[in-house]
Amino acid sequence: MQRTILHIDMDAFYASVEQADNPALRGKPVIVGGKVRGVVSAASYEARKFGIRSAMPMFQAKRLCPQGTFLPVRSKRYKEVSDVVMNILCEFSPLVEKVSIDEAYMDITGTETLHGKPIILAAKIKQRIRDVTGLTCSIGIAPNKLLAKIASDLNKPDGLTVIEEKNITEFMRKLPVEKLPGIGKQTSKELHALGIRVASDILRFDPSFWVARFGKHGLCMYDKASGRDNSLVQPHKEPKSFGSENTFPRDINNTEEIKKWILVQSEKVARELRKRGYMAKKVTVKVKYADFKLTTRTRSLPDLTNCTKVIFDTALELLNKVSIKKPVRLTGVSVSGLSKGFRQVKILEDEYDIKQEQLDRALDYIASKFGKDALKRGILVE
Ligand SMILES: [Mg+2]
Repeated sequence: MQRTILHIDMDAFYASVEQADNPALRGKPVIVGGKVRGVVSAASYEARKFGIRSAMPMFQAKRLCPQGTFLPVRSKRYKEVSDVVMNILCEFSPLVEKVSIDEAYMDITGTETLHGKPIILAAKIKQRIRDVTGLTCSIGIAPNKLLAKIASDLNKPDGLTVIEEKNITEFMRKLPVEKLPGIGKQTSKELHALGIRVASDILRFDPSFWVARFGKHGLCMYDKASGRDNSLVQPHKEPKSFGSENTFPRDINNTEEIKKWILVQSEKVARELRKRGYMAKKVTVKVKYADFKLTTRTRSLPDLTNCTKVIFDTALELLNKVSIKKPVRLTGVSVSGLSKGFRQVKILEDEYDIKQEQLDRALDYIASKFGKDALKRGILVE
């Protein structure tokens, strides 16, 4: 059956929320960011005219546009608006898959009798989002998720783009290769060097050529180049892992300091497990150095856990296997091998385990009541 998929992407989301909340900022260059390493998180379209882009250092943005309004990230507010937008989408179809704070897919196959043609429905969605939140979004309509995502990006902001089944081949023949999702600057540079300009050029080489060159990513790229994609819109995805990572305000080469971050991150993932009723079987530590080289180490646990101490101790063991001779830019802790449920009580429960569980529960309670910074574990107090 031919499907109809929408990809909805909010325009310059953080900056647009700021403009919606403060009418004095409308039509003006607004730049949101600065918390981590002073980089831009979002720039309004007015600010983009000055050459400002996400991930650009704030000082550079200030230099390009001294008259701009520079604002800190208000994550809580953006999450609130995001929830409103997602709820609006759910009014039109039960098949909504949220992919990030400002992006979602919808499967609207078979809704024509109820809502009219896909383009009419998409226009209604745009209008409703604008009425309720004052924000614009761009929507791509296509027979699959891949093309819907590409389409939503083609006419930003406030775009509405349709790719029809009968035009796919022609479309891929014109699509610049860097517009394929997952192809970054580096890959597109390499592709250009091979004489590959548009998506369908990729199909001139065998999949084996791409695998030899880019590994798994190469195969993925080959599949995308045809414009085919069979993945489904998945409304309630079971999480596969929980993770927490931080890019440090400055590079660190002091192991003790890194351990503190590992504790904060272990606590965060463990708390997420407990809050959502999951147990984990594997712990992974990720270390990214100042030169952007990345190392990860994973260990399977003997028992499923949601205990901060167990995750932290495992993460520390993993960290010990990683060289900290170079300055470190980022660390992360994640847990995977998730199952729903709570810890099984062993017949001879270790008194220590029970104490840890009580401690976790007490800290969770305090965090929920007074905020996560209300109480800190010993090694975090300087
Ligand atoms: Mg967006």
